[in-house]
Amino acid sequence: MLHSPPPANDPSSNSRSATRQVTVLLATPRGFCAGVRRAIDAVRDALSIYGAPVYVRRPIVHNLDVVRALEGEGAIFVQELGEVPRGSVVVLSAHGVPPAVLRDARNRGLIAFDAVCPLVAKVHREVERHQRNGRHVIVIGHRGHPEIDGTVGHLPDGAASVVSSEADIDALRFAPGEPMAYAVQTTYSVDDAAQLVEALVTRFPDIEGPATTDICYATTNRQTAVRDIAIRADAVIVVGESFSSNATRLAEVASLLCPQVQLVARPDELDRDRLAGARVIGITAAASTPETSVQAIIDALAEQFVVSTQEFESVEENVSFKRLAVA
Ligand code: SF4
Repeated sequence: MLHSPPPANDPSSNSRSATRQVTVLLATPRGFCAGVRRAIDAVRDALSIYGAPVYVRRPIVHNLDVVRALEGEGAIFVQELGEVPRGSVVVLSAHGVPPAVLRDARNRGLIAFDAVCPLVAKVHREVERHQRNGRHVIVIGHRGHPEIDGTVGHLPDGAASVVSSEADIDALRFAPGEPMAYAVQTTYSVDDAAQLVEALVTRFPDIEGPATTDICYATTNRQTAVRDIAIRADAVIVVGESFSSNATRLAEVASLLCPQVQLVARPDELDRDRLAGARVIGITAAASTPETSVQAIIDALAEQFVVSTQEFESVEENVSFKRLAVA
């Protein structure tokens, strides 16, 4: 559904030097999800209660602007708990961690708060239940992604296999009758997951899976919204980091429907030549991207074009999570 253009004094609707009119179609919903907001709030709450520094193990969410902003407020980002002085406060990222990391934090005398997204924690409980019921767990997801490391880390060694292609499923050494279950990375592509689930069910007819899907509401809504703008736009800009799973998935989904798709985190990464012929430019943002980054891209476009912006609402989204208690 199209919403009215911004007021005339919107800085993005004008430019002194630009002459070509371009409509910027803003995907809605886009940007921060409830899990990302909760994790960022947890760091800020810890800073206000305990004072700086508050340590954060790994990027709290996959966005460098968010990380830099929190560093400016007194957060110190580390890779491993060994870098955190004894007695310090540490927040663990929204992607989730294996229980061994929380144990390690306690053993090191740290005051640790786990900012795992409640929807990721739900997947942890699911895979643990499958394992308790004697099922081998297939996790559909990207190997090496922190969420997958955290999910697999909730199970004993050898109790889970990670797959991201039909070839991976073909290579699984289990007989069709063996007790199996599956789970899906919350930020996976909805269409790719459906294909892989179908392949798993064909190979293991009795496999157990989630009642609906593990892919979260935010991923699903943002993929729906980017589709809606991609079919209407000559070019699509996905604002997000190239190492963010949900940003990369948005770019992949858009690429199926629009020939000109760019994944950029900041204006200096824009390939302006690829926008030269565009009359309608769609913009969306990953669940870890702040709205200020979207505005920075619109401002950059306004240097090149006469820009008018329109929100295109695909899905109404009103999800919020209870704040993490860090006191
Ligand atoms: Fe949670 Fe989904 Fe956001 Fe990940 S993308 S933090 S699972 S709401």
